[in-house]
Amino acid sequence: MEQTFPQFLHHGAADGVTGSCHRYIASPHIHLLVDCGLFQGRESSNGQTIDFDLDCVAALVVTHVHVDHIGRLPYLLAAGFKGPILCSAPSAHLLPLVIEDALKMGFTRDKKIVERFLKTVESRLLPLAYKQWYPLRNEECLQLRVRLQRAGHILGSAYVELDLKQRDSASSPWKAHRTVFSGDLGAPYAPLLPAPKSPYKADTLVIESDLSPALVPLPR
Ligand SMILES: [Zn+2]
Repeated sequence: MEQTFPQFLHHGAADGVTGSCHRYIASPHIHLLVDCGLFQGRESSNGQTIDFDLDCVAALVVTHVHVDHIGRLPYLLAAGFKGPILCSAPSAHLLPLVIEDALKMGFTRDKKIVERFLKTVESRLLPLAYKQWYPLRNEECLQLRVRLQRAGHILGSAYVELDLKQRDSASSPWKAHRTVFSGDLGAPYAPLLPAPKSPYKADTLVIESDLSPALVPLPR
């Protein structure tokens, strides 16, 4: 049977709500990660290792800089991730500060090592403006673009829209698919942050929930 894309894999926040890390598979060779969070509390007992393949991962998209969404970044870089880190401009300012804390808590307080590591992180950051599409791939039979929208959760927070267009050949019609990754969403009427605006549409929505499958009534 013909494979359809996008496909999804969850490397965290699948059985709980921490360690958020989702793999978006645009094609067999073009993968993205959305967030790379630390497992916390009871969920941290499994360790923070990156036990998944990074060969096809072209970029990491960060929704916001809470530790349960970016805290595994040091582990990701140690595992050999070489791609850019896409996030909003405020997140690009905040991310090194949060990672510095995470490093000092879990890795080392050696100033030189921390500084070197943060330099690497900063060189990978690619800040994106809100509400603007950014092309990731523009090939004859595959186009992929990303857009960040305000999530109203913390400074710099975003939900992520990914548009994938595919066709079988240069003469075939395009098939389009929009995916929305919610990240964490805030409420409207917060004094400091603009209210989140609902996405215009989504063919696939990836959203966190604390409903365990056992609590979701199954259709009879
Ligand atoms: Zn959060």
